[in-house]
Amino acid sequence: RSKRRGRGQITVYSHEIAQEMKRATQLEQALRNAIIADEIDVHFQPIVKLRNDDVVGFEALARWCDANLGYVSPAIFVPLAEERGFIDALAEMLLRKAAQAALSWPKELFLSFNLSSAQLTDMSTSSRLLTIVNQVGLDPRRLELEITETAVMADADVAQKIVAEFRSAGVRVSLDDFGTGQSSLGRLRDFTFDKVKIDRAFVSGISADRASEHIVKAIVSMCEGLELEVVAEGIEHPSEALKLKSLGCGMGQGFFYGKPADAVATMRYLADRYSDVSELR
Ligand code: C2E
Ligand code: MG
Ligand code: MG
Ligand code: MG
Repeated sequence: RSKRRGRGQITVYSHEIAQEMKRATQLEQALRNAIIADEIDVHFQPIVKLRNDDVVGFEALARWCDANLGYVSPAIFVPLAEERGFIDALAEMLLRKAAQAALSWPKELFLSFNLSSAQLTDMSTSSRLLTIVNQVGLDPRRLELEITETAVMADADVAQKIVAEFRSAGVRVSLDDFGTGQSSLGRLRDFTFDKVKIDRAFVSGISADRASEHIVKAIVSMCEGLELEVVAEGIEHPSEALKLKSLGCGMGQGFFYGKPADAVATMRYLADRYSDVSELR
């Protein structure tokens, strides 16, 4: 009897694995097609100066809605693209679209673009992405690249060289999701960054959580000493914004200031704030 049950379990198990593999293959195929068909879109989320709510730039975030699969999170399809070897095609398409959109924004606003770990192990990344920026005609000094500690860890020497190439072209580099990876502090000592983005984990609920408050306070003070700019991610409530401001955090980003929106909605958002920006540009 137990043998039969055991066999049954194995059957169910392998059925689940088969389903899972089928879905993974479907997803991969759909992603491949979407990249070829240029169907992955990029949205933009404002980053503001906390002192006066002025917009200083936008983070580009990849968006994909497949006809059959529905909305697929970039947290799913970006790693899949890396795994299957088409991250370069994806990233180049996204950067081209994002840089193109940024051309219509006021010149003082930066574009922040996420780099994935696979891109930081490939020495050709900097020249390929800088070529796109030049082709589109975006001033590289308006570009920022967000990288995570996990990405840097894969091959620190190569990552360091890639980052140095970008920085010598005028591109700024920020450390994303700060506080959630490993050896954060060593990373800040050995690597040259321009900015640190404090992970949402320390921001949500900061107005009520003393521990988060102390941690953010320490990060802000450390960044002051290291002459790094600081952005708090994931601000959803005015009380969080207020607390972060009182702790001396310079910049913020989150649903409270604006959700990621497509290029057209982003122009509308800017037109509301800048008298010289027209939505029709
Ligand atoms: P990330 O770079 O840390 O991006 C911030 C994420 O937080 C985004 O999720 C954004 O929509 C979300 N977010 C912003 N404000 C709030 C808030 O107030 N509350 C909450 N709950 N969430 C907020 P999203 O767009 O789903 O992206 C997830 C991750 O996928 C990104 O994390 C980034 O690591 C990756 N990703 C997205 N687009 C790209 C891309 O173009 N290239 C690469 N390599 N990775 C990307
Ligand atoms: Mg990011
Ligand atoms: Mg982040
Ligand atoms: Mg994050």
